[in-house]
Amino acid sequence: MDKKINLSESQMPTHWYNLMADLPKPMQPALHPGTKQPLGPSDLAPLFPMSLIEQEVSTQRWIEIPEAVQKVYRIWRPTPLIRATGLEAALETPAEIWFKWEGVSPAGSHKPNTAVPQAYYNAKEGIRRITTETGAGQWGCSMAYASAQFGLSCTVYMVKVSYNQKPYRAAMMRAYGAECIPSPSDRTASGRAALEADPDTNGSLGNAISEAVEDALNDPTAHYALGSVLNHVLIHQSVVGLEARKQFEIAGRWPDVLVGCCGGGSNFAGFTFPFLPEKLDGSKKIRLVGVEPAACPTLTRGKMAYDFGDTAGFTPLMRMYTLGSHFMPPGFHAGGLRYHGMAPMVSAAVEQGLAEAIAVPQLETFAAGLLFAKVEGIMPAPESCHALRAAIMEAERCKREGKKEVIAFNLTGHGHMDMSAYNAYLDGKLSNNHYDEAALVESLKHLPEVK
Ligand SMILES: *Cc1c(COP(=O)(O)O)cnc(C)c1O
Repeated sequence: MDKKINLSESQMPTHWYNLMADLPKPMQPALHPGTKQPLGPSDLAPLFPMSLIEQEVSTQRWIEIPEAVQKVYRIWRPTPLIRATGLEAALETPAEIWFKWEGVSPAGSHKPNTAVPQAYYNAKEGIRRITTETGAGQWGCSMAYASAQFGLSCTVYMVKVSYNQKPYRAAMMRAYGAECIPSPSDRTASGRAALEADPDTNGSLGNAISEAVEDALNDPTAHYALGSVLNHVLIHQSVVGLEARKQFEIAGRWPDVLVGCCGGGSNFAGFTFPFLPEKLDGSKKIRLVGVEPAACPTLTRGKMAYDFGDTAGFTPLMRMYTLGSHFMPPGFHAGGLRYHGMAPMVSAAVEQGLAEAIAVPQLETFAAGLLFAKVEGIMPAPESCHALRAAIMEAERCKREGKKEVIAFNLTGHGHMDMSAYNAYLDGKLSNNHYDEAALVESLKHLPEVK
């Protein structure tokens, strides 16, 4: 048995998969933030190109990957599916552990899988500049990279605390020709309002989204891009799971458990949803496990409700698991995945019983990352360590139960730029404190009212 399964470029998927075609119960529509009526394509036109708006509401099962996008994908795709034999041995588990390795992309994560098509469709429809936000900087780097591929300018609002803590991510965006601005900034009304409320604010993803959206709305040649949550993003990420399916077929395996970490939900959806048709028609069994940080427990402790995607209330209302759009994870949390909401399609999959969710404390995730680095050599991103930790828990269960299950997780990125978080862990500076229950109750009180 080979250590890793590689596909040739000619085996790369030519179409993305859209779970919307197969969801047993259709999803509730997104609502206009002002009228609270279902959103029409014209409501989204100031922000997104028509081809992405069409994908956003599409119920078509297969969506063609444009040749120009495939051409850029081929720089790093197909990515390998690797068997974590070193980890299996270290855990003395009878289970097989596999991972899909997305850290080989130019930006070092799965995010270019959607940044590239988003840049392509915008450029094709005549847009000159992309505005976006970024938390830790992975998405900003991916969008900066993709914009450069299609001759677009790119403005990235980066959450201030990360901007200060991760100067190399900002430097990478600059290297790709993008402008990276710490958020909140004085460039936008929503940024100025946040600074007025608290001049020393760390910033939040929700507020950075408000700034990027506002910037795009004020410039007719600019559009906004989002790195997760939205249906079209999840659709683009399906390239990961479609490749993995083919690779498991070559390995003569069908996985028992698929694990992915959940920030906004895009990598989890992209990796796991292409395996759902067989689960839905009952021909095969498979468990899908989404993993989130205990400090930001959207799926496991949030509420399924209509909520805004940002703090200022510019974005459409989406029905999703949410902690409330003003929820801020505690400052000690170093593992990423800090978004208050969850992709409506992932939320629907969990609500309809197609996927499970668990929350893991951060100390266990960093310990898992260090074990993996020692036995497999790859330094995982702290976000990916959530999936890794859950895969280890599944392998330990298999050991207790004497089961030879096939476990697979999505290794979404490398952690080369996150070594200060590993240092903080090794220096004993991180703790396992969970989110603040009182703050969560307060945050959920302010969910917008929808009839
Ligand atoms: C952004 C990111 C995530 C989480 O985002 P999703 O949209 O939930 O996939 C996970 N891993 C890495 C490495 C990331 O950069």
